[in-house]
Amino acid sequence: MKLWILGSGTAVPNMLRAPACFLLEGREKRILLDAGSCVLLRLEQAGIDFRQVDAVYLSHFHPDHCAGLVPLLFAHYCPDGTPRRDPLVITGSVGISALMDNLRRAFGDWLVPKSFKVEVREAREHVFADGEFEVSVVFGSHSESSLAYRFRDRAGKVLVYSGDTPYSASIVNLACEADLLLLECSFPAGTRAPGHLSADDAGRMAAAARAKKLVLTHFYPPCRDADVKAQAAEHFKGEIVVAQDLMLIEF
Ligand SMILES: [Zn+2]
Ligand SMILES: [Zn+2]
Repeated sequence: MKLWILGSGTAVPNMLRAPACFLLEGREKRILLDAGSCVLLRLEQAGIDFRQVDAVYLSHFHPDHCAGLVPLLFAHYCPDGTPRRDPLVITGSVGISALMDNLRRAFGDWLVPKSFKVEVREAREHVFADGEFEVSVVFGSHSESSLAYRFRDRAGKVLVYSGDTPYSASIVNLACEADLLLLECSFPAGTRAPGHLSADDAGRMAAAARAKKLVLTHFYPPCRDADVKAQAAEHFKGEIVVAQDLMLIEF
């Protein structure tokens, strides 16, 4: 599996860190994990045609994680290149159907691609197959719409994405022995951050899950002046990567 970091930031403007967005590349599928507002720019910079995105999994409906859906769908409307034919599946918490209906109400047919079908899937806590991946879902507690996802490919490799979250025992369980745990790290150690993780708690979660590799992301400005990697490493002894936009991680 490959993981592209397309947005390691938040809602706060930052030239180097776009709002949350990642691309999971398997052998057969390309899956966006969240769709922050810079999704098209970062895909272009990564050399990936947006038409090759097969699915979008949203962790929750805060705009720094899903505002890119509008430009992503509208781009398919613009006549340039070979149109996509296969369906695009958008997965999110209960409420994703209403969100998509409301977006279509606001933007009309501009968000309805002509050459393929957009399928919307409301996910609950369950396990299902998505092509080459077995996908497991648990509810998060960051917001009403929060979900965390576990992707397991046919070779048994596992990636877990937390979305935004405070310390969560259910995400620790989901991430048990994950090859790659992509975990939010909103603030430096010692920060009280309701609904989010500080670097020390991110390290504690990765250690409790016995993850193999921890990738920290979703950095608010105070992280600029802190060594979040060292802070997480006080609790987690495995490999730690501080996400940067346009970083490619193979595992
Ligand atoms: Zn966020
Ligand atoms: Zn959020």
